[in-house]
Amino acid sequence: PDVAAKIAAGEVVERPASVVKELIENSIDAGATQIRVDLTHGGLQLIRITDNGSGIPAEELPLALARHATSKVSNIDDLEHISSLGFRGEALASIAAVAEVALMSRPRGAEQGAQISAQSGQISDVTAAASPEGTTITVRNLFSAVPARLKFIKSRNTEISHCHHLLEQYALAYPEIRFSVFSEGRQIFATPGDGQLASVLVEVYGLQIAEQMIQVQGDEQPEDTAYPVITGYTSRPTAYKSNRQHISFFVNRRWVLSRMLTSAVEGAYHSLLLTGRHPIAVINIQIDPSVLDVNVHPAKTEIRFLKERRVYAAILRAVRAALLEEPE
Ligand code: ADP
Ligand code: MG
Repeated sequence: PDVAAKIAAGEVVERPASVVKELIENSIDAGATQIRVDLTHGGLQLIRITDNGSGIPAEELPLALARHATSKVSNIDDLEHISSLGFRGEALASIAAVAEVALMSRPRGAEQGAQISAQSGQISDVTAAASPEGTTITVRNLFSAVPARLKFIKSRNTEISHCHHLLEQYALAYPEIRFSVFSEGRQIFATPGDGQLASVLVEVYGLQIAEQMIQVQGDEQPEDTAYPVITGYTSRPTAYKSNRQHISFFVNRRWVLSRMLTSAVEGAYHSLLLTGRHPIAVINIQIDPSVLDVNVHPAKTEIRFLKERRVYAAILRAVRAALLEEPE
């Protein structure tokens, strides 16, 4: 691939977990209810995602690998109203610029499946394949042709734990999807896909902590849609962690990282004089997309709200109310 393609790829594809993120977002966008992830050598040797989503028609396989061919956005207004997780049509092309990619798919109800592959920027012909309904994407030898990137990759275990953490976050955001994750053929994580956030909490944090979680149910949607609706779980003061990394936020079901949001949850505990420990929480924020700042890089997990203080206040109030309702 040319230099420009590799540079663009570097923005999206930083490490194996970034590939996993893009691929499972595609599976979610395709309406999958089951997503299986296989990793070999922390994803550097192999990442395979198998889903039972809508699939890709044979004639569209070359487009899926081409940059921007599938962009769902034609102007900045579209960007505000985007409902799918992906919209730029460049993730697969970027991954194919730094790895070998094989794409096999069969649309629901189609008689036959098809496959295509890309290696060193060369896209193969489409051929028939015995594919189950859904899509399987295999990414091999990530960064093997980009030694500069490989240098920044830590140990195999570090990459596995990044992938694991990421998949836990998506599982928390999508309790209706059955996730299973395998590393070197061994299952390391799985969720039942029963639609219950509480079930995912058991898988992520274990039964003991899950039993210490209390439901957060903020106010119903107010007249003014610029106010967020908050739902989720937060831990009783008897369950806690040694750092802040166990508070997860999803804005309109997209995983985000934000100090502001974290401090809103912590603020609720502090307001009740529960200090010194880090709570565990999963907070879903449902908000009118037009009050989100769309200029933040889509591959990043940052977010900016146009009315930040409203969001802060809504979270603080909802978490505080949950803690007050259910004392230990
Ligand atoms: P984007 O998600 O931004 O549209 P991608 O490069 O991630 O771009 O994917 C390109 C296109 O390939 C998608 O728009 C979608 O049409 C198709 N695609 C990719 N992965 C899947 C999948 N798992 N199931 C169905 N379609 C897929
Ligand atoms: Mg995508």
